[in-house]
Amino acid sequence: MTALLETRGVWQRFGGLVANSDVSISVGRGEIVGLIGPNGAGKSTLFNLIAGVLPPTQGSIWFDGEDVTHMPAAERCQRGVGRTFQVVKSFETMTVVDNVIVGALVRNTVMREARRKAHEVLEFTGLAGRADVLASDLVPAEKRRLEVARALATEPKLLLLDEVLTGLTPTEAQTGVALVRKVRDAGITVLMVEHVMEIVMPLVDRAIVLDLGKVLVEGKPADVVRDPKVISAYLGD
Ligand code: ADP
Ligand code: MG
Repeated sequence: MTALLETRGVWQRFGGLVANSDVSISVGRGEIVGLIGPNGAGKSTLFNLIAGVLPPTQGSIWFDGEDVTHMPAAERCQRGVGRTFQVVKSFETMTVVDNVIVGALVRNTVMREARRKAHEVLEFTGLAGRADVLASDLVPAEKRRLEVARALATEPKLLLLDEVLTGLTPTEAQTGVALVRKVRDAGITVLMVEHVMEIVMPLVDRAIVLDLGKVLVEGKPADVVRDPKVISAYLGD
């Protein structure tokens, strides 16, 4: 069976800066794949290319057997690409449930159906008790969870998580890890960016390390963490 997601020789240049340099990765159906690497490695840029926020300077992106390189972001979302943003983009003046309804409206044009879906997702993500609170009143860990909930409400095949576990307390991070496992167990493939290796490595089936815009190493987490190239990229020499 073909991969759910593939990037083929993808480049992204911002003027003279090369943010992604010949990046070819693939994510199989049902996998949790970690995309890691130091700050500025090009992880968020690659997410933007996959989600369709930016067209790549060169190369192609394949999702679910289709070339989506030039497909607009909204259409990719319809096809099943769901994502969160590293900088949380909740609508602060809306309630938690209304934020999730925004996601659910991608698939359900009938408001009653969208609301029902939103409550189902809030239950799934452990936010049911916070449904009627303003998003601005959530603590940071809950805001991250709301981002995940809104992405899940779009009913993705692939969920792109950009640093949703970063900056959380160890307990909150473990709750987040459990949620990611639950998402995968629900049949959704996960590609997650994390800066902190200790958090992601026990969770992922496979890790891909980006450094200076390029794929440095990929493989099983236990092998990746021991790779001298990875160690030196993280120590910055
Ligand atoms: P990461 O998420 O791995 O920290 P990013 O993908 O955010 O890295 O950034 C990779 C590089 O591309 C950085 O040097 C960053 O400053 C640059 N960059 C990202 N987005 C833009 C943009 N829209 N315009 C110019 N440079 C950008
Ligand atoms: Mg980033």
